[in-house]
Parts: sequence; C-alpha cells; structure tokens
Amino acid sequence: MSKEHRIGRREFIMTSAGMVSAGLGAACGVAALSQDIEEAASKVGRLPRHRLGSSGREVSALVGSATWAPEAVEAGVRCGINYWHKADEWGSGNTPQAIRRNRDAHYCQVCVDRVRGNHETGAIDEEAHVQFVKQALQQTGLRYFDDMQLHFGYHHIEELKSNRGFIRAFERLKKDRLVHHLCLSQHSYNGNRKVAGGQSAPQILAAVMEDGVYEHAQFMFSYGDTPAVNGFVESARRKGFGTIAMKTTPGLGRMLRDQEYMKSFPSGTTPHHALARWLTTSSKLDAAVIQINNLDQFVDTYSGAGKPMRAADLQAIEQMTTYADLEACRLCNECMSHCEEGIHIADILRYERYAKDYREEDRARRLYSRLERHADACTACGACLAHCPQGLQIPVKLAAAQVLLG
Ligand code: SF4
Ligand code: SF4
Repeated sequence: MSKEHRIGRREFIMTSAGMVSAGLGAACGVAALSQDIEEAASKVGRLPRHRLGSSGREVSALVGSATWAPEAVEAGVRCGINYWHKADEWGSGNTPQAIRRNRDAHYCQVCVDRVRGNHETGAIDEEAHVQFVKQALQQTGLRYFDDMQLHFGYHHIEELKSNRGFIRAFERLKKDRLVHHLCLSQHSYNGNRKVAGGQSAPQILAAVMEDGVYEHAQFMFSYGDTPAVNGFVESARRKGFGTIAMKTTPGLGRMLRDQEYMKSFPSGTTPHHALARWLTTSSKLDAAVIQINNLDQFVDTYSGAGKPMRAADLQAIEQMTTYADLEACRLCNECMSHCEEGIHIADILRYERYAKDYREEDRARRLYSRLERHADACTACGACLAHCPQGLQIPVKLAAAQVLLG
C-alpha cells in the first residue's frame, strides 16, 4: 500500500489541525505523513502561474480541488497552488489550516447549484443562492469566497438573457464583500428532453462571453476535443475571457488498468504526466483541474505542469486520444435527441466515467440510481448510433453501464 495511506483522511485532518489529543502512534503517523508531503512537494516543485482571463489574477496553471485527499491539498499548497475548486466542500471544520492561515494568498471558489430540483429541473433563485453562500462561509470559516460559480451553468442562451437571478445574488454578496468574482461551469443541454430548447456548452459559453458579466468559465476539455470546444478556447483567449478545463481525464483510469494497452505506452512518461504537460503548455487554456486520488498521483501529474512536451509525451497524447475516442463518451449530447426511449445517454456515460476513470464507484452508483430511466430501457434499436461523432457502440456501452452501476 502507498505511504500516503498510513493514516486515514479524517485522522489526518484532526491531528494536523491539533483538534484532538492524539496518542504517540498517531503522532508518529502524522510526522511520517508530513515527511511524505514534503517529499511530494519537493518532487513537484513550484507550479507556474497563468493570468486568468483579463482579471489580472495569476493562478496556478493547474488548480486544486477540495475533493482531493487532504495530504494532496497540503502538498499542493506547498507547490503554490492558489486556486481551489469547490472550496465550499470544506465544511464542518476541515478547511485546510494552511489556507485559513494565509487566506488572502488563495482564491477559493464556491459552487452554487440550482434549487428545488437538479441541474436540469431546478431553478435559479436569487435569495436561496445568497443564503447558500452565507451558510457555506460559516461552515468553512473562509470569511469570503473569491469566485462564485453557477454550477452546471445555463440551459440555453435565452435563460442567460432573461433570468438574471444568479447575477443579482452575486451582486448582493459582492456588495458585502463576501464574494469577489463571477464565473460558471457549463455543461451541454442540447438534446436533453428535460430541458426544453437546451443548447450545447460551446454555444452558451460564447453567449456568456459576449454578455460580459461573467469573468471566466470552467468546462469539459481534454485531448481530442471537438472543433466547437477548441474554437471557444481560442476565442476566449483573444477576448480575455478566463478558461479553466475540467473533466480532463477521459478514459485515463481505464488505460492505467488496461495492462495490454500500457505495454505499448511510450516509456519515460505516464498518462497523467503527459496530460499535465499538454494542458499547461500546448493548449490555450488559462488553467485546468485534474482529478487525482492520492499523493503519488499528485506527484506523477502535477510534476508535469508547465514543462515542455517531449517526443514521448506527444506520442502519449496521440495514443490517449485514440483510446479515449474508442472508450470514453465525450458528453457532447449529440445522440440524445435521437433516442425515442428518452434515455439520458450522456448522463449514464458520465457516471461510467466517474466509476471507471476516477474510481468513484459509490458516487457513480448514487447518481445513477437517481435517474428516472436506466440503461436497461435501451431497446438496442440503433437510432442513436449514426449521431455519435466518436462512433461509440452506444447500446453495448449502456448494457455494460447497467451491469456496472445498476
Ligand atoms: S439504441 Fe438504445 S440508446 Fe440508442 S436510440 Fe435506441 S434505445 Fe436509445
Ligand atoms: S455517446 Fe457519443 S454522441 Fe452521445 S454524448 Fe457520448 S460522445 Fe456524444
């Protein structure tokens, strides 16, 4: 077992914060873990920083997430990660001390969901969003959030134009200096039967950028992405609109467990490492977040930030693109409107990615159980097949997802 598992997540939070009186065994564990963190940080070194749009803020080229293991967060802080996605998830006393102590050196983001439903059926509600942010501030003790993010974004351009409730909530909180910058994460809603008139993420993002109120956006982006997404990234760079890539590891967990595939992987690099180099030096993104599960993966991945692509990394990205195109849904939604059974193909295959690529099986199964229609409703009629730009065997994948998640 890896060294980072010497003591558990909760034990580490409590002992490192000095919140409990721990015995000698725990103290030894903390000391060993601190050493592991130091070693990890020194292997990664200082992360480069990029300007986030035209905001004037410099953020680490790879940002961090509150969903990481605490020891990876600690190592990230030492390496200069200064932007934290989903910081509102640090509730109930587990906000890292290193960030609380040096609060103004970090940009902490609060992710705000729609209310009275999920991201498809829920509503934007000014008052509820204001109260959510105030409550998250109390729970995290962060005093203010730097970035207030509309989680999942708008359903279509018309909603952006006609429903300014989220923007008003931001302005109220900003007046009280509880939030400073407005941003959104944008998913695709084209072809989604629960969202009348839904549009794709690149379409909505282009309108958000023109609207001029939001400062930056987080969206799905990775190797082999569509011309529409690549076009948006180029245009955002020209116009000074900030960009942060998320869901950057399509198929990556599967590659690592596919021993036959890994035998032909270029030597001298790894999938995570090549990805980090590529995202931070060969794309026009301002920053990206990469899902990692432990300290070893932090070192492997984040040590690539800002370093130039070598021949092995170039070849790796090429091979990873081919693998992902065959295995992992890019969540473009193009197939959805062609399914007479109303199956939420992209949602199901997104949860498959959580289970197979992030190893978050419990979360994937929990989300899957909430869907109204499951993959076993697929009649294998084949009507969707011609509309998948990747040529995925959708009925076959759905049947496998039912076994995995059902
Ligand atoms: S094959 Fe399955 S998912 Fe595709 S259109 Fe037919 S029922 Fe829907
Ligand atoms: S199955 Fe294909 S068309 Fe459907 S969302 Fe995934 S990549 Fe897009």
